[in-house]
Amino acid sequence: MAAESGKIARSNDRGSPRRTTSARSARQRPVDPQAAVAVESARALQAWFNTPGNARALPWRDRPAGERDAYVVLVAEAMLQQTQVSRIADRLPKFLARFPTVSRLAAASQDDVLAEWSGLGYYRRARNLHAAARMVVDSHGGELPNDVESLRSLPGVGRYTAGAIASLAFDKHEPIVDGNVARVLLRLHGKKAASDDRAAQAWLWEQSTNLVRAAKRPGVVNEAIMELGATVCLPAPAAPRCERCPLASLCVARAQGTTARIPTVKSRSARKALYASTLLVRRRDGALLVEQRPGGGMWSCMWQAVTVERHDRHATAHELSVETGTRIAADTPDERFIHRTTHRDVHFEVWTGVPGRAKSPRPRRGEWVDPRRLSELALSNAQRRILFRDAGLFHELGPLSPRPR
Ligand code: SF4
Repeated sequence: MAAESGKIARSNDRGSPRRTTSARSARQRPVDPQAAVAVESARALQAWFNTPGNARALPWRDRPAGERDAYVVLVAEAMLQQTQVSRIADRLPKFLARFPTVSRLAAASQDDVLAEWSGLGYYRRARNLHAAARMVVDSHGGELPNDVESLRSLPGVGRYTAGAIASLAFDKHEPIVDGNVARVLLRLHGKKAASDDRAAQAWLWEQSTNLVRAAKRPGVVNEAIMELGATVCLPAPAAPRCERCPLASLCVARAQGTTARIPTVKSRSARKALYASTLLVRRRDGALLVEQRPGGGMWSCMWQAVTVERHDRHATAHELSVETGTRIAADTPDERFIHRTTHRDVHFEVWTGVPGRAKSPRPRRGEWVDPRRLSELALSNAQRRILFRDAGLFHELGPLSPRPR
């Protein structure tokens, strides 16, 4: 968008950013440059978002921002945390078809909710969503509250999600800051900081507050800046598409040629390692040996092939056999792979066990399950990879008993 007469100038002759108004405006009244940028930005973002072809058509955008069903916003925001939009485009409608209202979600069992979430990862989100639905039913009469303080008291609802629900569902002037919003704001103002830097966070929330308070339609402006960050103001190594940006004439980073260096990169702490020895055991009728993880910690309450974990090394075949009460079929694992979670590298070794030939008559851990029912269980992506890897073989083993144990 070209700079217009009477609007904010963001760079002087030497290329340094400055914020002035036209001489006529300055004579009329003193203008806070930050507030003026917020007004111009909000206006440009709203116009851009409302122009057909700029925003993506996504399943949860069935109504204009500011008028959405708060429950749908809650579920969509829970799914979108740490997960790409393309991955949830078909999962959200499926989840909502199974749990169409907050009351239906609250009445469901946690196992059913986790199973419907299966494959999306970060299962704490599903548990929090379920707990939040129960709190909405128990404490708010089955209606999501419209103020951020009450929203933030719900499990899993932080400042960002509360702001998203308040603005997208109730059109409230509440700010939001996520990675996309932070990148746009840092570049717009030419601030050299990391998006998740603690010191920068207060500044980012202040800028987002200025922006949304300057908006006529806060829900639209909040969604527009998120969309801009996701589709135009792209993170490195991709180059931002400044030529398509409605904020181009206001953007300090663009004027200074620093878009590739903003946001800065924060040094990461070392990732932790975990060593998982997993035993794949099939009974003659095809049933698989699985167990449920304890509550709390990684993959809480999810199902898995029987697994022994160590923090410093893998369990040996002997240790695995003794701890599970199952004989191991070979001296070496069938497969090794590394699964990366947010904070850990989980080093998997996958072994094959032999049912019925262990020294103990029954495995000491786990229970037998029909592999055709695996899709009903809440499984991490790593366990899906392990348990489904021989799915074709399972179906060649003949009929299974209705409820193998
Ligand atoms: S002009 Fe470029 S760097 Fe600045 S906000 Fe727009 S896309 Fe991002």
